[in-house]
Amino acid sequence: MKRRDALTLWERLYLPQIVGGLVVVIYRFWRNLTLHVLHTVGIARNLRASVTVQYPDEHKRYPDNFRGSHRLTLKEDGSVRCTACFLCATACPAHCILIEAGEHPDPSVEKFPLRYEIDTLRCIYCGMCVEACPCDAIRMDTYVHPKIWGYKRADFIETKAVLINRSKVLGERGRDALMEDLLEEYKEREEGKIPFTRT
Ligand code: SF4
Ligand code: SF4
Repeated sequence: MKRRDALTLWERLYLPQIVGGLVVVIYRFWRNLTLHVLHTVGIARNLRASVTVQYPDEHKRYPDNFRGSHRLTLKEDGSVRCTACFLCATACPAHCILIEAGEHPDPSVEKFPLRYEIDTLRCIYCGMCVEACPCDAIRMDTYVHPKIWGYKRADFIETKAVLINRSKVLGERGRDALMEDLLEEYKEREEGKIPFTRT
């Protein structure tokens, strides 16, 4: 019996599909180029041309429901809320959270994280860690994506200090500050003010 999802001979040639794809790309390219040129001289403004964002020089503001990078939330005294209970690390399907628990000097607090790290090369940004936390100690509401440059794994590990700093910057300078800082750092690296190091 013939399988209903089998490709026909015409489809298996692939050439018509390749030609069809090229026609669409070439048509779009020339249409957009022509319209952008016409728009700059004030003609055909009612016809819309495609626009792209010149990232990283420009970037679109992320929507309010954007699931950003992680942060560790803080108590009023500035210390971490996290009690190193390991629930987030247990729930994490990518096994990318590393916690080292320590005795807290305050006897009313059982433990705190001496070390709390997220390996962003493994993280799939599913939010399970946030869901699992009973203390609201970890959130993904930073409106920033993780750092995208580096030459070694350590460059992509977000440490406790990084995760705490995100909460401070967010609290002091508002929702877009972390993204602005990230783009600023990227530009400085691109201009050679901060070197990209391979060591
Ligand atoms: S977002 Fe998902 S993959 Fe990333 S650390 Fe949290 S639980 Fe793990
Ligand atoms: S972030 Fe939350 S779930 Fe993870 S160890 Fe800390 S208190 Fe537990």
